[in-house]
Amino acid sequence: MKVTVSAIKADVGGIGGHTRPSDGLLDAVRKTVKNAGNLLLDHYIGYSGDDVHIIMSHTKGTDNSEIHALAWKAFEEGTRVAKAEGLYGAGQDLLKDSFSGNVKGMGPGVAELEFDERPNEAFTVLAADKTEPGAFNYPFYRLFVDALSNTGLIVNKSLAAGVKFNIMDVEEGKIAELELWQDKPILEAALMYPGRYVISSVYTKAGEPIASLSTDRLHNIAGTYVGKDDPIAIVRTQKNFPATEELGSVFNNPHYVAGNTRGSHHMPLMPVKLNTAASIDFCIPIVEALVFSMHDGKFTGPFDGFSTPDWDYVRNIATQKALAMRSQGFVHPATLVPSELEYAEGYKAVIEGLHKKMKPMESSSKSAGSKKYEDPD
Ligand SMILES: [Mg+2]
Repeated sequence: MKVTVSAIKADVGGIGGHTRPSDGLLDAVRKTVKNAGNLLLDHYIGYSGDDVHIIMSHTKGTDNSEIHALAWKAFEEGTRVAKAEGLYGAGQDLLKDSFSGNVKGMGPGVAELEFDERPNEAFTVLAADKTEPGAFNYPFYRLFVDALSNTGLIVNKSLAAGVKFNIMDVEEGKIAELELWQDKPILEAALMYPGRYVISSVYTKAGEPIASLSTDRLHNIAGTYVGKDDPIAIVRTQKNFPATEELGSVFNNPHYVAGNTRGSHHMPLMPVKLNTAASIDFCIPIVEALVFSMHDGKFTGPFDGFSTPDWDYVRNIATQKALAMRSQGFVHPATLVPSELEYAEGYKAVIEGLHKKMKPMESSSKSAGSKKYEDPD
């Protein structure tokens, strides 16, 4: 049976800031999806920080207008409640006034996979908040390329053969297919800069879909700061794919990612339990693991992937790394480079004061080449 799993998420309002959606907002989203009749085989709704995710199974394929319209309508209903409750950022990820067939490019993040369901289909949804799509570059590299992180790359025939990556250039809106193992250095060069090159999907050599990741950058859609494009991903696990525990383990070294407070800092990505609010300690980036089984499109789960006691230790490491980075305040690399700042306009207005005071030095000669810390446009 061919089944599609669609994970669509949006931030349409948070309690007292960018914390978490209200119960009323969530109820409105749930009610809308529940009333979808027999469009869906199954669904699950939860949140990661201020982002609400709708996980759906159906037989309509990817990029289906009915499925996307349902998610859009649910987020509109959530927005209605958010406005009525005075929630912060009500409707902030709904960047267009009316739905036009596909939520991609309209604000919500989308990850979708269509596949022949295995008898015991296993997949995990990774839902992050306070970061950017490239936040998954490092863990996915560990999962599919680094045998020191994942022994499955040696002992599993399908993974040992190497996988295919689709890498998106989020600045140019272009996509490239890279194949292991021959394209390894090219892949590494791309994953080195998560602000520009992000993984959008992963396939086996035989063409079986393993993973789909949301890749939209809200900054590029709206042209100005409207919130962070917090990513969501679906990863199939077991058999020809990574084991569920191999997938989880690549999040056990909380690496620094862009985002956090005002979308303008670097902080570590902390694995957290399902339906965790964003921390008001400078918005440490978070990721949740929703572990599902599926049969005939019906979900069992999610099991809370980062809920076991060992993850408390990892959370401690993340907190320590967060405090270490914050200990140097606004000094880069605690902050992002100017062109990556989400509050670029505010920074530009202030640094303008410096430019006005600048005078040429008598013996200066102009240096050639591009400027590393160019002010934002
Ligand atoms: Mg968010």
